Amino acid sequence: MVEIGSQDLGEMQAQWAIVRGKIRQKIGDAQFKSWIKVISLKDYVDSKVTLSVPSNFMRTRIIEQYLDIIKSYWLVQNLKINDIQIIVTQEDVNLGSKVNEVKKSDSSAAVNKNVETKSEDIFNSISSDLDSRFTFSNFIVGKPNELAFAAARRVSESDDVPFNPLFLYGGVGLGKTHLMHAIAHEIKQRKPLRRVIYMSAEKFMYYFIKALRFKNTVAFKEQFRNVDVLMIDDVQFISGKDSTQEEFFHTFNALIDQNKQLIISADKSPQDLEGIEERMRSRLGWGLVADIHPLTYELRLGILQAKEEKLNARISENILEFLAHKITSNVRELEGALNRLAAFSSLVGREINLDMVQDLLKDLLKSSQRKVNIEEIQKKVSQHFNIKMSDMSSSRRSRTIARPRQIAMYLSKNLTSRSLPEIGRRFGDRDHTTVIHAVKKVEELRNKDDSFDEDVQLLIRMLES
Ligand code: ADP
Ligand code: MG
Repeated sequence: MVEIGSQDLGEMQAQWAIVRGKIRQKIGDAQFKSWIKVISLKDYVDSKVTLSVPSNFMRTRIIEQYLDIIKSYWLVQNLKINDIQIIVTQEDVNLGSKVNEVKKSDSSAAVNKNVETKSEDIFNSISSDLDSRFTFSNFIVGKPNELAFAAARRVSESDDVPFNPLFLYGGVGLGKTHLMHAIAHEIKQRKPLRRVIYMSAEKFMYYFIKALRFKNTVAFKEQFRNVDVLMIDDVQFISGKDSTQEEFFHTFNALIDQNKQLIISADKSPQDLEGIEERMRSRLGWGLVADIHPLTYELRLGILQAKEEKLNARISENILEFLAHKITSNVRELEGALNRLAAFSSLVGREINLDMVQDLLKDLLKSSQRKVNIEEIQKKVSQHFNIKMSDMSSSRRSRTIARPRQIAMYLSKNLTSRSLPEIGRRFGDRDHTTVIHAVKKVEELRNKDDSFDEDVQLLIRMLES
């Protein structure tokens, strides 16, 4: 069945991402980039994972050196996996060499290394940086972002410079970049002759350092002197880099003195930005400082409704409400969730129900859930089955005690981030293999026995709300 397979693969992709993150932490960036980043997940059939790599040489090396840790990390995520094999795929060859290229120029990996510091190039690359979907009309306005939105509109419609700079700040994924691109689109349309530059602070740094290296900082400065509107996104990345900060400050002052519009974004207010010189900090706060607050439920729902309509995704209102309740962190995650559901619904050709949603979005929902700990689980489960809490760690083995204990272990594995050995310890110093056994047993019973499954679901719901 296509549906089951692809659903599994989606989940496997999510697990693979987690596994890679853990491996990266363990082996460090350099090793990770050389050996793990190039591996892609190809398939998952009959509990067997197939990974692919671009060359035979890599395959051998990865099997020798990394397969065991891949396996062990993945098993922590998913006990069902029986085998992991690695194949070599032809189609990955190009990708592979690209990855190697990036590796060679690691020092400038964060930036596009093909861009020259000639002015045409800067301007070309700027326009291609703009996302055509980030327009004002696609931006949903509510209490948390109305000031930032109004300020952005005002800047893009004004003939003069209403406030300088406009400083937008807020947490990640709340729409800062979207608003900046929207300003650029709007100005381009209204006044095509105005020179607008949008760039990330990282890119600004890159151009600047490159200009230093090629000793043409004069040309560099010239380009910025010619713009009408300069937008620098995520300026927190400039903090601490002294020479870049200095140059940014000069450019910034020069433009403001010439009454050119500046728009800056950051993740914090000017006062709270770290590693920024005092004179810079105070100057950043001179104009209008507009923050985007964390989204309210109404705004989250509004955004979901608008996006759903655009996607034409056949996702019912109550599911949108569910998502708006559960995913509270930022718009990017909301969008991610919606896209995943839309893709799934179009694949299976029918509407999605709540069960499917919980399955498809397990990873996202988990991170926004209330955190439960092992003790709470043990308590709830004992109450539910009417046994003593102390029996969670006792050595009694009668079914009426052992089964709830297994359920509690299973829930601890699934609802907390504790490791198997840690869970074992908390259940009367049991071995981690006992926990594995419990997890497998409960999964098996959930699949076989509907009323058992309902019991477990009920417990999960109680623990998570
Ligand atoms: P930031 O730059 O603040 O980290 P982005 O501007 O990149 O966040 O926004 C993340 C995603 O969320 C983008 O796809 C953007 O279009 C979307 N988004 C954010 N806020 C809104 C909003 N109010 N209405 C519609 N989409 C939004
Ligand atoms: Mg951004």
